[in-house]
Amino acid sequence: MLDHTVNAHKIPAILDHICQRCGGEINNTSLDDYFRYYCRDCEGFGRVVEGTYLYRFERVIQKKEHVMNLKFELSEEQKKASQFLLNSLKSNHEGYLYAVCGAGKTEILYETIFSSLQMGYKICLAIPRTDVVKELTKRFIPIFPKTVIHSLYRDEKIDENADILISTVHQLIHYYHEFDLMIIDEADAFPYKNNLFLERLVKRALKPEGCFIMMSATYEDKSIKSMKKARKSIYRLPARYHRHQLDHFRIVYTKNSHQVNQSFFDNELFIWIEMKIKMNISTMIFVPTIEIGKQLEMGFRVQGIRCLNVSSVDQNRNDKIKQFREGKILTLITTTLLERGITIKGVDVGIINANHSVFNRHTLIQIAGRVGRHIDFPNGEIVLFTSRINREIKAAKAYIVHMNREASKRGLLDHDL
Ligand SMILES: [Zn+2]
Repeated sequence: MLDHTVNAHKIPAILDHICQRCGGEINNTSLDDYFRYYCRDCEGFGRVVEGTYLYRFERVIQKKEHVMNLKFELSEEQKKASQFLLNSLKSNHEGYLYAVCGAGKTEILYETIFSSLQMGYKICLAIPRTDVVKELTKRFIPIFPKTVIHSLYRDEKIDENADILISTVHQLIHYYHEFDLMIIDEADAFPYKNNLFLERLVKRALKPEGCFIMMSATYEDKSIKSMKKARKSIYRLPARYHRHQLDHFRIVYTKNSHQVNQSFFDNELFIWIEMKIKMNISTMIFVPTIEIGKQLEMGFRVQGIRCLNVSSVDQNRNDKIKQFREGKILTLITTTLLERGITIKGVDVGIINANHSVFNRHTLIQIAGRVGRHIDFPNGEIVLFTSRINREIKAAKAYIVHMNREASKRGLLDHDL
């Protein structure tokens, strides 16, 4: 239950054709069976109808002592990025941190969160995906052992006494001018990216004088330009904490395999996987659809290759990921479900039908970012199996080249390009 027991304000659900829950404009054609206006934008959360009322609540958080347990030291560059976020917090500015996959965005954030806790701020970390919400909550709890931290997603809605809420973006519909610090992580990910409804929820949940921090691993030049024009503060971190460059793609040309069959396994993918298994290397194979994943799993089994297959509809996915993480199985087939938020030591990745529309430039960069994250395995292999190179592959390749060059120029790499 959402803890909304104090400071209730009753307000008309729709005022001047604006939905007071999600801020959506009410279209003249949005009439229910009783000819009352309703909001189409947030209908999925239960219909908001003209003439009814909403209750807005403000949670009261008990002031308490907080501690931060960091068992690592930030690199020089991470410290600069952390200072940038702290400055954004102190000046109540919007701050945008673009840091490549494996730069340690979460670690960079801790100091800012700790500072906010000490000021008695209500903090929300919003992320587009439920699995990442759960994963980050697990990471935060030992770092802030005296702090109340709760996750919010479809099946989990307890916010009682929580100093930090780690939430999906959708769950922010329950809050209005609630948070002093709002951080949106993975702002480049579906479904947040280019979704005006979700952007509205984030802004409405933040207090008008609150601080807004956005973090992302990828960006587009046009968004940087528009932010610079709006005088927003941006910090770019083009290198990983271990000072090795980002790995480039290797392209392997194949026929497009919407239908996986025996002949498909005679190609380079099969040879490549066999080699990885012989070398005892964990490999994630990204597929564009759940169906292709199933066919590939079946095909591997026929060939005697042990593998696991996960997707968003798989109830046992956490157990399978655990087996893969522990090295009990070396080959994991996955949809874009695992494109982000997962760190596996020493993993290589392959992408099947890399020119499929599911794999846009942001997804390709994120998948590539699974490789080389650990200091003991700072580099690895990313193979794109594709029938052709499309615009998205080109853009993702160009991004990696650009980030490595910038990192080299700024002296953030220990090895020359
Ligand atoms: Zn609405």
